[in-house]
Amino acid sequence: MLEMDFQTSVPNPASAAPPDSPAASPTPAVARAHKSLPGDSLPPAVVPGPGGKLQLKGLSLPELKELFRTWGEPEYRAVQVMEWMYQRAARSFGDMTNLPKGLRQRLEETCSIEAVSPETRQVASDGTTKYLFGLADGHAVETVLMPHDYGNSVCVTSQVGCRMGCVFCASTLGGVARNCSVGEMVDQVVFVQRELAAKGEHVSSVVLMGSGEPLENYEAVVAFIRLLGDPRGLGIGLRHITLSTCGIVPGIRRLAAEDLPITLAVSLHAPTDELRSRMVPVNRRFALAELLEAGRDYASQTRRRLTFEYILIKDLNDSLEDARTLAHLMKGQLAHVNLIPANPVPERGVERTPQAQVEAFARILEERGVPVTVRREMGTDIDAACGQLRRRRGRDR
Ligand code: SAH
Repeated sequence: MLEMDFQTSVPNPASAAPPDSPAASPTPAVARAHKSLPGDSLPPAVVPGPGGKLQLKGLSLPELKELFRTWGEPEYRAVQVMEWMYQRAARSFGDMTNLPKGLRQRLEETCSIEAVSPETRQVASDGTTKYLFGLADGHAVETVLMPHDYGNSVCVTSQVGCRMGCVFCASTLGGVARNCSVGEMVDQVVFVQRELAAKGEHVSSVVLMGSGEPLENYEAVVAFIRLLGDPRGLGIGLRHITLSTCGIVPGIRRLAAEDLPITLAVSLHAPTDELRSRMVPVNRRFALAELLEAGRDYASQTRRRLTFEYILIKDLNDSLEDARTLAHLMKGQLAHVNLIPANPVPERGVERTPQAQVEAFARILEERGVPVTVRREMGTDIDAACGQLRRRRGRDR
């Protein structure tokens, strides 16, 4: 494993804030002030760039056009800036050589182009790379690049922390501070894309499986997905985008109506309400029957097969009886089950199911006609479980 700090040549002005400033001691104020239950929407993030500048990354083409219209500039400037930001992954307005000098200067003075700044990275022996990015208000998020033989996949974080409280997950230990903005999500992908482009490669798929519950950040997540798919944005086919949710039923129903041909993954993890409510507390609000019904409706509305993720944790949810109950539950679902050998999280006493038991569990599903895959582990020699790098660096508050 290789770990290195990025050069401080990439400034993160917020990290230099005095200790008593709000930027230096971010607290989960948003979550506390907002008397909502886990599973409700959290307020959208409004995160100005350093110095209060307008954050340009994350704006859609119509939004950019509107900005340039109010500046008295022709609309095609929006297309040019969009191409620089996403396709060419420019890091400064100065690079945008086909814009008039005066406009570049105005952009530099009033707008910011980068929403995340790299702090550290870890590279595992299989090439899995985990980035810790600083945000303009002093928070930090993790992003993971997973090189597969079919292409490069990027795992994106949608919230600063998480308040879902799943018992096996490191991301949720410090609670949630706030939602990520569209720009912060898209810039995680742009940063990795820039690094890959230098090697003649590109990002071929995106999974919303980093920290956070994407359906609590609904509007920004949908805008982010549309920017990924936009040919003037990242141009990643929507079929190569996966959103993972712990089971926010109203969000699933809303998403089904968006006409986005993405893949929906549902973190199931347990085959009974009794066990699932212990492992994934939001199950107390949206129980299994309701969740599975929303899954069936999603599949029939979108004609897309769902994925049910099932982490295997030693002596918790990995018995052969659990496998049989799960197989029964999957009857009538247009779905496949993805078994995930748990990444151990020492703080949570989570241990991995032994390989032989993983295979026996999978066999029971197979024998009962349930499509099943076992997730290949990646990055096991780095802090691979969600939220672990951020915690270890003391950036989860
Ligand atoms: N909130 C969303 C997305 C974030 S979690 C959700 O729950 O789906 C993304 C995936 O990582 C989920 O399937 C989650 O259960 C899994 N995960 C969390 N902790 C893990 C661990 N210790 N080992 C393996 N997978 C884990």
